[in-house]
Amino acid sequence: MDKIKMTTPLVEMDGDEMTRILWKMIKDQLLLPFIDLKTEYYDLGLEYRNETDDQVTVDSAKATQKYGVAVKCATITPNAARMTEYNLKEMWKSPNGTIRAILDGTVFRTPIIVKGIEPCVKNWEKPITLARHAYGDVYKNAEIKIPGAGKAELVFTAEDGTEVRELIHNFKGAGIIQGMHNTCESISSFARACFNFAIDTKQDLWFATKDTISKKYDHTFKDIFQEIYDTEYKEKFDELGIEYFYTLIDDAVARVMKAKGGFIWACKNYDGDVMSDMVSSAFGSLAMMTSVLVSPSGVYEYEAAHGTVQRHYYKHLKGEETSTNSVATIFAWTGALRKRGELDNIPELMTFADKLEAATLGTIEAGKMTKDLALITSLKDVTVLNSEDFIKEIRKQLEQNFS
Ligand code: NAP
Ligand code: MG
Repeated sequence: MDKIKMTTPLVEMDGDEMTRILWKMIKDQLLLPFIDLKTEYYDLGLEYRNETDDQVTVDSAKATQKYGVAVKCATITPNAARMTEYNLKEMWKSPNGTIRAILDGTVFRTPIIVKGIEPCVKNWEKPITLARHAYGDVYKNAEIKIPGAGKAELVFTAEDGTEVRELIHNFKGAGIIQGMHNTCESISSFARACFNFAIDTKQDLWFATKDTISKKYDHTFKDIFQEIYDTEYKEKFDELGIEYFYTLIDDAVARVMKAKGGFIWACKNYDGDVMSDMVSSAFGSLAMMTSVLVSPSGVYEYEAAHGTVQRHYYKHLKGEETSTNSVATIFAWTGALRKRGELDNIPELMTFADKLEAATLGTIEAGKMTKDLALITSLKDVTVLNSEDFIKEIRKQLEQNFS
C-alpha cells in the first residue's frame, strides 16, 4: 500500500512524561506505517523549554499561526517541585496558557463516546462539547474585605478624567466586595470561535448567562453574541440547518440534563470551569476527552484534555508495566490530520483519520482496553492491556480496516 502524502506540515508539539512515551508509540505504530507524515517538530518537553528559555513554546505557537493546524502532547506546567526535579532556570508558564495567549483561542472539549463506557446521564447519546471563555470575570477580579461600616462604590475614570460611579453598598458592618471585568474584544473573539466551531462540526450552539439579574455585564455577552450571529453567521447556520440559541444559564443546565447531546455548549469563564468538569466526569473519563483550541482567525491546535500522567511515568521509569490510555492522544492526531486533509483537500488523510478512530473504538468495543476503562466498563470479560499492547491491538484493527 502506498503511504498517504501530505502537502502542508502539521505543527507537532511534543511533550512530557508518560504522554511523551505514548506519543512515540502512536507515531511508530499507527501513523508512520500509513502516512508520509509531514510535521514541523517542536520539542515542548520541559528540558528543552528550559534550555531555550521557553522560546520553543512561542515559536510553536507562531508556526501554528503560519500553517493553521497543530497537534500537541500534554506538557508539564512547572511548580516548585518541578523546579528541583528538572533543575529549572525559571518557573516557566503553562505552555497551554502561552499558546492560548498568542492564538487568542477558545478551548472546546469533547468526550469520545464508545459502547461499553456509558455516560451517567442515560439520555446523553451524543457528545456534548463544552466551550469555555478563557478570559476575565472572576479569574481577573479585585477583592476587598470590608472591615466595618462605610460606603463601597464602583468608579470608572475615563482617559479625559470624567468619572462614572455606581453605589455597590452602604455597609453597616463588616463584609466583602469584588470587582470584575471583561472586554468586548475578548467576548467577540469567543463568540466567533464558537460560531466557527459550530459551522465546522455542523452542530447547534447554545449559549447561556444570567442576563436577567446581571443587566449590563451578562447582558453585554448576550448582545455581542446576538449581533455577531445576526450579521456574520446567521446565513451560514440557516444553510447548514443548525441553530444558535441563547437561554438563561439555569434553563440551559436543566435542558442539558434532558437533552440527547450532539451540540456545543458555550459558557462564560466560571460556568465553563464548573460545567466542563461535570460534563466530562458524567461522560466517563478524562482519558476519553479531546480538546481543541480554535482561534478567531481559524487556526486549530488539537490535544488530549488530560495531563502527562506523571504517576504512570514514574512506574514506567522503574521498569514496571503501565496501562495508560492513549485514546485522547490518538484522537488529537486524528483531529489534526482530518483538519489538514480538509484544508489541503486530501480526502485519503480524512479517511485515514476516520479509520484510525474506528479501529481505536473497535478495539475497546471488542473488550480490549486499558485499566482505567476496564474499571468502569459495562462490557463483560474484558482484557486489560498494557500501554503498548493496547496500541498494537489498534494497529491490528487498523490493518484489517485497510485490507
Ligand atoms: P493527569 O496527568 O491528567 O493525571 C491524573 C490522574 O488521572 C492520573 O494519575 C491517572 O490516574 C488518571 N489519568 C489521566 N490521564 C490518564 C490516561 N491517559 N490513562 C490512564 N489514566 C489517566 O493530571 P496530573 O497528574 O494532575 O498532572 C500531571 C502533569 O500534567 C502536571 O505536571 C500538569 O502540569 C500536567 N498537565 C498538563 C496538561 C496539558 O498539557 N494539557 C493538562 C493537565 C495537567 P491513576 O494514577 O489513578 O491511574
Ligand atoms: Mg476546574
